Amino acid sequence: MKAIKFEATTCPSCAAIVDLGINVRGHGEPKPGHIAVCMSCGEILVFAEDMKLRSADLNDALRIKPETMQEILECQKAVREGNPHNRHKQ
Ligand SMILES: [Zn+2]
Repeated sequence: MKAIKFEATTCPSCAAIVDLGINVRGHGEPKPGHIAVCMSCGEILVFAEDMKLRSADLNDALRIKPETMQEILECQKAVREGNPHNRHKQ
């Protein structure tokens, strides 16, 4: 998996500045509709048309393929285990 730098935007869940992501599908620049995981809080986010991030809603969740969801869950686990600020939230 390759980290991709993009224009800074704010996580709607934790307000962290997000300007770096991992493309879980492993190819290309992020585009509207692509799924991202906040590297600070692990929230599932979606790139909107203006490339700002919003929280994933039910329609987004239904669109996520099972193998992609597995990768998202692995990212969330890595974020939560790797970020000492989040340990007390579990
Ligand atoms: Zn966040």
